[in-house]
Amino acid sequence: MIRGHGLCFSYGADRVVTDVDVHARPGRVLGLIGPNGSGKTTLLRMLYGALAPEAGAVEVDGVPLATLSVRQVAQRLAAVVQETGGESSLTAAEMVALGRGPHLGTFQRFGAEDERHVREALATVGGLALAARPFAALSGGEKQRVLIARALAQTTDHMLLDEPTNHLDIRYQHDLLKLVRGLGITVVVVLHDLNLAARYCDDLLLLEGGKVAASGPVDDVLDPGLLEAVYGIGVRRVNVDGELHLLFRSHDAPDAALLSSLPELTRMS
Ligand code: ADP
Repeated sequence: MIRGHGLCFSYGADRVVTDVDVHARPGRVLGLIGPNGSGKTTLLRMLYGALAPEAGAVEVDGVPLATLSVRQVAQRLAAVVQETGGESSLTAAEMVALGRGPHLGTFQRFGAEDERHVREALATVGGLALAARPFAALSGGEKQRVLIARALAQTTDHMLLDEPTNHLDIRYQHDLLKLVRGLGITVVVVLHDLNLAARYCDDLLLLEGGKVAASGPVDDVLDPGLLEAVYGIGVRRVNVDGELHLLFRSHDAPDAALLSSLPELTRMS
C-alpha cells in the first residue's frame, strides 16, 4: 500500500503538484491520468522516492518513505521508468540482474538464489530467449519486458511505471498491461491512453494543473463531462460487450448539423 498526503512539488518557482492525496491499495492497479504537463510524472517520482515532496509525505505500508534509505526504498518499491540503459553494453539478463542489487549485502556476491530470481523474472515476461542478447539491440517492446523483469527480480510488493506503453504497438500495449495487472502486486502506472486505463486499472487519479480533478474507481473517474472539462475534447462513453470505451471528438470538429448543411452553404457561395 502506498499513500501520499498533501503532496506538493515545485521546479524552481513553478508549483506543478499541489496538495495531492493518493492511495494505491494493496493488490490493485492505480492509474495516474491527466493532460500533458498535469504533473503525473512528478507525482509518480515522489511516490517512488526519486523526488522529495516540498510539502506532504509518502508512506509505504505505513512507513514514511523519508525515513528509509535508498536501499530500503528499493527493497519495497520497483520503478519502471522511460527506457533506461539503452546505451549500456549489458545483456538482457545482466540488466535484469541489476534488480537484485537492493538485496545484496556490501561485497556479497550474486548467488544461486539471485540467479533463480533473474530466471523467474525473465520467464514471467516471456523473455528467457532474450537473456543473452545485448539490451541495447532489443526492440522497444522487448526492452520494456526486460525492464519489467528487472523490477520483478527486485521482488517488491509495489511497482510504479511511467508510461510503459510508449512506443509499443497496440498488441504489446495490451500484453504488457495484462502482464502487469496479472502480477497481483500493488501497481501505480502513468497512462496517456484513457481506454487502456479503463481496461487495466482498478482505480484512477485524474490530475489537472497539478491538482486532483477526480479520484476513485475507474467507472466514477471516467465521467464524460469531467473528461471534457479537463481535456477540452468531446467525449462519449459507450459500453461494448460489458466493457467501457471512450470515443473522442475535437470541439472544433464540424458537428453533424453543420455537416448536413454543407451542400447548402456551398450553393450559397
Ligand atoms: P506530466 O507527466 O503530466 O506530463 P510532468 O510531471 O512531467 O507532467 O510535468 C509537470 C510540469 O512540470 C510541466 O509543466 C513540466 O514542464 C514541468 N517540469 C517537469 N519536469 C521539469 C524539470 N525537470 N524542470 C522544470 N520543469 C519541469
